[in-house]
Amino acid sequence: MKIGFIGTGVMGHAIVRRLMDAGHELFVYNRTKSKTDDLVANGATWKDTPKEITDASEIVFTMVGYPQDVEQVYYEDATGIFASDVKDKILVDLTTSTPSLAEKIDQTAKDKGAASLDAPVSGGDLGAKNGTLTIMVGGDQAVYDKVTSLFEKMGESYVLHGTAGKGQHTKMANQIMIAGTMTGMTEMLVYSQKAGLSLQKVMDTLAGGAAANWSMSNYGPRILKDDYTPGFFVKHFIKDLKIALDEAEKNSLDLPSTQLATQLYDKLADQGYENDGTQALIKLWWGDRTKS
Ligand code: NAP
Repeated sequence: MKIGFIGTGVMGHAIVRRLMDAGHELFVYNRTKSKTDDLVANGATWKDTPKEITDASEIVFTMVGYPQDVEQVYYEDATGIFASDVKDKILVDLTTSTPSLAEKIDQTAKDKGAASLDAPVSGGDLGAKNGTLTIMVGGDQAVYDKVTSLFEKMGESYVLHGTAGKGQHTKMANQIMIAGTMTGMTEMLVYSQKAGLSLQKVMDTLAGGAAANWSMSNYGPRILKDDYTPGFFVKHFIKDLKIALDEAEKNSLDLPSTQLATQLYDKLADQGYENDGTQALIKLWWGDRTKS
């Protein structure tokens, strides 16, 4: 299948690799061109704009950073995806973005005779590399059915949660949970250290009990190695938490734990760590041990 892919950062790059390994023809575009160099060296074709990507492809995936990046890639005059004749094409946004933008893209796609899905993912950089992502999809069943063979190459779990925007809502539910597991893991480690415990032993023990969770098993070992490379950027987690809080507010819902996690991550970003991985939250207690 001719597949277009826009956004070849931490996640997109790894997903493109998997789709190429599955034998598909890939057309790639990224704001910083050099991030596609090795993909092109391995057989992908570079295109100069999202419009040209769409012209060349049957299905287009986007995996950019923020909602404003999604807006730009889809709607930019002359060079955006919708500047192409999208009739009969499928457009899939994998970015974690807003439910309302997913609904808007879906409506524009339908108006132009195309189809769209919002399909944000969970599972981190390793999930993208290993094809073990969890994919949360919104859109029409018939469109979803046409894309499942590609989701299968990216993830172990993919579920349609309802109409356009419901994938993004499900991802917000995921991020609300992660806010708790990241703050919980961090406080668990700083407490254990002060109590004079072996952090490795504590994590091994907790992993077998009721406190076991993905954040601890994936990011705990990185913290013990003082490895704060992303992974999942602090700046992107803040973006997600603020989308979740906005959506909660629209439903007159108070989420105090998510608010507190947002304040803590904002503080971390203010200290200059917005391009670290989310495991860097522990620097609010430990400082930057890599500099000591
Ligand atoms: P990333 O490394 O920053 O990748 C985003 C890529 O999109 C970058 O290469 C960026 O280009 C490109 N981009 C941004 N705006 C663009 C535009 N207008 N036109 C073309 N390319 C553009 O981030 P990531 O970690 O892959 O995350 C991507 C998305 O997935 C985010 O929404 C994030 O919240 C979500 N997510 C991430 C993870 C994770 O663990 N990393 C997990 C689940 C979901 P530049 O190279 O120029 O910056």
